[in-house]
Amino acid sequence: MYRCTCSIVPRDVLERLAGDERFGAELRKAASDSARVSDVLRRMRNESRALLMHDMAMGTRPKPRISEPKVQVYNCRNTTALPGRLVTSPRRSADRTIKRAFEDTTSVATFYREVFGRNSLDNAGISLISSVHYGVKYNNAMWNGSQMVYGDGDGNLFLDFTLGNDVVGHELTHGVTQYTLDLEYSGDAGGLNESLSDCFGSMFRQWQAGQTVDQADWLIGADILGPAARERGYTCLRSMVNPADRKALARQPTRYSDLTPDMDPHYSSGPPNLAFCTACVVLGGKSWESVGQVWYRAMTALGARPSLDMPDFAEKTRQTAEQMYPSQPAVLAAVDKGWRTVGL
Ligand SMILES: [Zn+2]
Repeated sequence: MYRCTCSIVPRDVLERLAGDERFGAELRKAASDSARVSDVLRRMRNESRALLMHDMAMGTRPKPRISEPKVQVYNCRNTTALPGRLVTSPRRSADRTIKRAFEDTTSVATFYREVFGRNSLDNAGISLISSVHYGVKYNNAMWNGSQMVYGDGDGNLFLDFTLGNDVVGHELTHGVTQYTLDLEYSGDAGGLNESLSDCFGSMFRQWQAGQTVDQADWLIGADILGPAARERGYTCLRSMVNPADRKALARQPTRYSDLTPDMDPHYSSGPPNLAFCTACVVLGGKSWESVGQVWYRAMTALGARPSLDMPDFAEKTRQTAEQMYPSQPAVLAAVDKGWRTVGL
């Protein structure tokens, strides 16, 4: 049973904002409407994922030979009907949201191809489909099992979700996870699922800016927080470098032993996020050059492992670091330090 919302904003954050009387009625309504729409999308996600994976198993899905996937943007024009109307030339669109969704999605495909040698989400060139202007003031973005969906945000709590390049990288990575480990969306596997999206989303953000691990902000969602959220002192959705940071809208546990089986994956991703960030910072340089390569290999070499737990994934990354960098023991030492920091 898969229950993946695979959205960037956890439901309880939207519910908390909806119930916060310090925000006006209009903002609270936008937050509560967004929480409700997410439930509908979650049900749709299970169906589209099932259809896509069925096609793959039957070998009926066409496999293009091109190494660059087709990137398509649809405009929902503030309705909730997916996918919306196809935009014919998104690269030349006067609509900044459409243009941005096209450019960042194309850039994520380039990141996966150049850095990891991967051809799109399924490594077989599957088209990348995004729908923008979804709903009215919709405060979320998600991967629904076969495509990306972006809301405009209410402009106060959250801005246009395409403004976050880490958001785009996060959502598309849910697609990569679906075609590799195919992790469930609960327990340890759920936390790993969310964490992989944060790790590769953050790496994509750093890669785009050409940043070293010291220059990186290690924040998720810093570019989509609106003025009302900032006035309250929030700076991001999640912090990978300090998951328990009070400035994060969704504060997370930092130790593996603090996780509970029924925890929302957006919270149980705290320890593996901190392990990855710590490993990168200890090693230095650029996140995607060594530690990122280890995470990618660990993620893609095991095949489908829907109920993979965090101790097993940690062990896999240690083995991988040793195999990939036999003459650079600092890589294994950094990976080991990362997991030890969170008690694994
Ligand atoms: Zn997610």
